[in-house]
Amino acid sequence: MLSHWLLRFDLHRLILALAVLGVLATFGNSFYAIHQAQRQLLIDSTLEANRVYAAKLAASVDAMLSAAQGQLAYSADQLAPLLQANDVKGLEQEVAQLRDRTRTFNSVAIVNTDAVVVAVSPETLKLKGARLTSPSARQSLASQQPLISDPLVSLTGNYLISLSYPVFTADRRYLGFVAGTIYLQSASVLSNLLGQHYYQDGSYLYVVDRQKTLIYHPDPQRIGQKISDNAAVDQVLQGRRGAQAVLNTRGTEMLAGFAPVANAGWGIVAQRPTRATLAGLDQQMLDILKGMIPVTLFILFVIWLSATVISRPLRQLANRARLMDQQEAASHISSIRAWYFEAAQLKQAILKGLGLLNTKIDQLHTDSHTDPMTGLFNRRAMQQMLDDYQAQSRPLSVIALDIDHFKAINDGFGHHVGDAAIVALAALMQQELRADAALCRSGGEEFLLLLPGVTLEQARGIAERLRLTVASHEMEKIGSITLSLGVAHWPGDASDLGAVLKQADKALYQAKYRGRNCVVVAGP
Ligand code: GH3
Ligand code: MG
Ligand code: MG
Repeated sequence: MLSHWLLRFDLHRLILALAVLGVLATFGNSFYAIHQAQRQLLIDSTLEANRVYAAKLAASVDAMLSAAQGQLAYSADQLAPLLQANDVKGLEQEVAQLRDRTRTFNSVAIVNTDAVVVAVSPETLKLKGARLTSPSARQSLASQQPLISDPLVSLTGNYLISLSYPVFTADRRYLGFVAGTIYLQSASVLSNLLGQHYYQDGSYLYVVDRQKTLIYHPDPQRIGQKISDNAAVDQVLQGRRGAQAVLNTRGTEMLAGFAPVANAGWGIVAQRPTRATLAGLDQQMLDILKGMIPVTLFILFVIWLSATVISRPLRQLANRARLMDQQEAASHISSIRAWYFEAAQLKQAILKGLGLLNTKIDQLHTDSHTDPMTGLFNRRAMQQMLDDYQAQSRPLSVIALDIDHFKAINDGFGHHVGDAAIVALAALMQQELRADAALCRSGGEEFLLLLPGVTLEQARGIAERLRLTVASHEMEKIGSITLSLGVAHWPGDASDLGAVLKQADKALYQAKYRGRNCVVVAGP
């Protein structure tokens, strides 16, 4: 069962399976590697883009804040004499001008050392005369320094940050401060600066103050909320710029670039969902796959071709080796193109083996048809020839012959001399006969001569000639010997060849009877 199943694997299939497996593994591996590299490339380029973008915006915000502080500083200089003289009209004019001229601030106010608002623009805020209680107002008065406040809710209910600048007289007496506000939840210089930069694919940016409070976010609802557990925010508030993957508050993975706003201690984070970044990857990989398929198919075709060419000689040798007993096995195997070492060696070995086998078979065939002492045909060979003649209905003459008084030679000279005489007689007769005459030793010192296509008369002549030749031939030690011969022909009156042999034997017997050293022709 198992071996039958295993036999279904041939070299061609094995090479093919191995190569295809190799190609598929390489293909899969390359595809995976390309996928990973492409993915990393997309992520890296998005991180880099966001890092640069955050840095650029941080620089813009920094510049905007510097400019705003510069404007406040300039105003503070102008205000000092007006505030000292309590020129309310002049102060109101100055705040209105500051707000309109710069278009930086949502509102502008002048506050004296008692934290009371002396002038405000726009007047609709109705803050004039009000006393400020916010920590940032107190801090501005206490420090007498320029300040950017944390986000706060103003007396009028606006969520804002305020930039303040101290007002001193020419002789360095502190009079209060001038403050400009930037609203965080309605249109402001900040939202103008940052709000333009807003993509469609889920990218956005936000700004946190040093308390991790959101002071800018595309979703106004989120402004004022605190951000916790965000690595990008932690980094940027430590003054670092960079980029890294983070999880946002909704648990979405984001590729965030971040940069600090040095002036205010804020941090800007620009980010894009990883999924949006990788959205094009599948299509890209599909395109790459499409590009790889034709080459891969070509490679597979070449592999199939190579497997066929490599396995062909061995397959042909194997097929031929199964049919080794067929006649043309050797010529078929010779014609196989064994073009590489192993196949060539196998082919040679098979041919050599086949050659040896044939030689051996020929040898065995000869042995089984030959009388070892004389080299003549034996009885078996003779029987086969007779069968062939009979099958072909080929006429032939038969001569049976026997040495006269051979016993006497054995007795007189020894058995080995007798043997030598038999061998010498065989050689002598062989010499006398034509190639198509088959001489066989039918036993002891008796012989049979088959003469295909020879008439009875011709056979009698041949018998007579043999008799005379032998009788006149001098043998070593024993001198001459004589033969008695019986001749018969087929088809004569004998039905089969077996009967003809008997007729020839009978004629031989008669020759002995008539006195030996003579020829008798079988006849009616
Ligand atoms: P004839 O045929 O004339 O009647 O007399 P013969 O003496 O030849 O008698 P027969 O043919 O009956 O006997 C043959 C003898 O030849 C018998 C046997 O000892 C001897 N002989 C048979 N085969 C061999 C052999 O291979 N070698 C030797 N040396 N002798 C053999
Ligand atoms: Mg005899
Ligand atoms: Mg005899």
